[in-house]
Amino acid sequence: MSFADTALTNVKFVPFWIDDASLEASEPVLAADIQTDLLIVGGGFTGLWTSILAKEENPDRDVVLIEANHIGHGASGRPGAIVSTSVMHGLSNAIRVFPNDLEELERLGHENMDGFMSAIERYKIDCDFEFGGELTVGIGSETDELLDEEFEINREHGHEVERLDEAGTKAQVNSPIFTGAVWSKKRSGTVHPGKLVHGLKKAALSLGVQIHENTPLVSADDLAGKVSVTTDSGSILANKVLLATNAFAAGHKRIKSRVALVRDRLLATEPLTAAQMKSIGWANRQGIYDTRTQMNYMRLTKDNRIIFGGRLGYFFAGDPDPAEDKTEMPYIRLAEAFHRTFPQLADVKISHAWSGPIGLTNRMAVHFQHYFGGKMIYAGGYSGFGVSASRFGARVGLAIADDKQLPELQLEFAKSEPGWIPPEPFRWFGAKVTLYAMDTMDEKGGWRQPWIRFVEKLGFPLT
Ligand SMILES: Cc1cc2nc3c(=O)[nH]c(=O)nc-3n(C[C@H](O)[C@H](O)[C@H](O)COP(=O)(O)OP(=O)(O)OC[C@H]3O[C@@H](n4cnc5c(N)ncnc54)[C@H](O)[C@@H]3O)c2cc1C
Repeated sequence: MSFADTALTNVKFVPFWIDDASLEASEPVLAADIQTDLLIVGGGFTGLWTSILAKEENPDRDVVLIEANHIGHGASGRPGAIVSTSVMHGLSNAIRVFPNDLEELERLGHENMDGFMSAIERYKIDCDFEFGGELTVGIGSETDELLDEEFEINREHGHEVERLDEAGTKAQVNSPIFTGAVWSKKRSGTVHPGKLVHGLKKAALSLGVQIHENTPLVSADDLAGKVSVTTDSGSILANKVLLATNAFAAGHKRIKSRVALVRDRLLATEPLTAAQMKSIGWANRQGIYDTRTQMNYMRLTKDNRIIFGGRLGYFFAGDPDPAEDKTEMPYIRLAEAFHRTFPQLADVKISHAWSGPIGLTNRMAVHFQHYFGGKMIYAGGYSGFGVSASRFGARVGLAIADDKQLPELQLEFAKSEPGWIPPEPFRWFGAKVTLYAMDTMDEKGGWRQPWIRFVEKLGFPLT
C-alpha cells in the first residue's frame, strides 16, 4: 500500500478547524420582515469584520448579518491561515497590479495588521496566533533567482527578511526537497481560523449585531431608495447592504463576471510526537509556501499537526459544494506531495481532509462592485489571501457603502474592478486545461508553457 492509501485510511472529510460541536450555528433563522440601517450578507471574516467596524464606529446603528449556513462555513473556516501583512496578495502582486500606489498599499497593509492584532486583543479572542513569520521555499536550484528577487523587493520595502541557502533552509525545516528560502520575519505567522471566526462572531454579538444563521439571501432589489432582500422565511429592507459572499458571489448575478470559484484542498495530520517533531525541525513554526506553479503550503497547529494544502480543482459553474470533492481521490495526490516533502513522517496518519472555495480574480486581491446606485457593495475576491486582508476589505467596503471621503478611496484599487472572466462553458474548459497544464508543466513541458503564458496574459499570475 502506498503512503497515501495508508495515511488516509481513517480520514474525516471535515475541515479540521471547525470540527467542533461548539462552533455549530447558534443564532436563529430570520423569521420576520425587518428593517435595518446596514445589512451584511455572509458570515465569514469579511462580513464579521464589517459588522464589528460598523458598530465600533456608531454603536447606535442597526446592523443585521445573515449567513446562508453557519458562521465560518465558507473559506473562513477552511484556510491554511498563514497570516500576512499585505492586503494585495503579497508585495510582488502589488507591484504587478498597482505599481504607482505601492508605498500607500504597504502602509495600509501595516495599518491593517495593527488593527487586526489590536481587535484580537481587545475582544480577547484566543485564536492560537503565532508570529513565526513566512518562509517562501524554493524546490530546485532553478528557483534561486526567483528567491533572490523576492528577497530584494522585500528588503527594499523595509521588510525584515533573511535569504536562506539550502543548508540554512533545512536547518529551519528539514525537507529533502527544499533548496533555498526567503524568511519574512515580522508581522506574519499563523492563526486558528475556526477560533478566529468564532471569536469575531462573539465580538459582533457583544456589540449588538443581530446575526441570523441558516438564512440565505434569495434575492435583492432596488426599492424606493432602499434595498429589499428576501430570504426563505423573512425579508429585510436595508438602507445599505454589504455583500460579503466572496467566492459564492451571492447577491447579484453580475458579480460572477469578475470572480471565479475554484476550490483548494487541505489535509491535517494527527498531532506529531516529540520524535517526529524533532525529525522535521521547524522550531520557528513559520507558515510556508513553495514557489511552484501548482504550489503547496503548510503550517503547524498548536497541538503540532501539520496542515498541508494546495491542490486546486474547478467544478462546473463554480459549484460551491461538489459531492465528488468529498471522496479520497482528489486527496491522494496531495498526500503524496506531503510524503515527498516529509518522507521521514511515513508513519503519520491524516486525520482530516477538506476543500474550500477561493474567490479568484485576475487582480488576485480584494475589489469592490457597486450595485443599486451604491446602496449595495460587494467586497471580495481575495484569491486565497484574505485571512487578515478581509479586515481591510471590510473597512474599505464599509467606507464605500457609507460614502466616506477617505484618501485611500481615491486609489486605483478602490475605484477599479478586475478583468472580465468568460462565462460557462468556456470558464470550465479554460480552468480544466489550465489546471492540467499547471499539474504537469514541470515534468512534461510542451504546449503547457505557451498555454500558461496565455493565461498569464489574461492577468492570472500562475508562475
Ligand atoms: C483552501 C483555502 C486556503 C486558504 N489559505 C489562506 C491562507 O493561508 N492565508 C490567507 O490569508 N488566506 C487564505 N485563504 C483565503 C481566506 O480564507 C479568504 O480570503 C477569507 O476567508 C475570505 O473571507 P470572506 O468572509 O470574504 O469569505 P467566506 O469566508 O467564504 O464567507 C462568505 C460567506 O457567505 C455565505 N453565503 C454564501 N451565499 C450566501 C447567501 N446567498 N446568503 C447569505 N450568505 C451566503 C457563505 O456561506 C460564507 O460563509 C484560503 C482560502 C481557502 C479556501
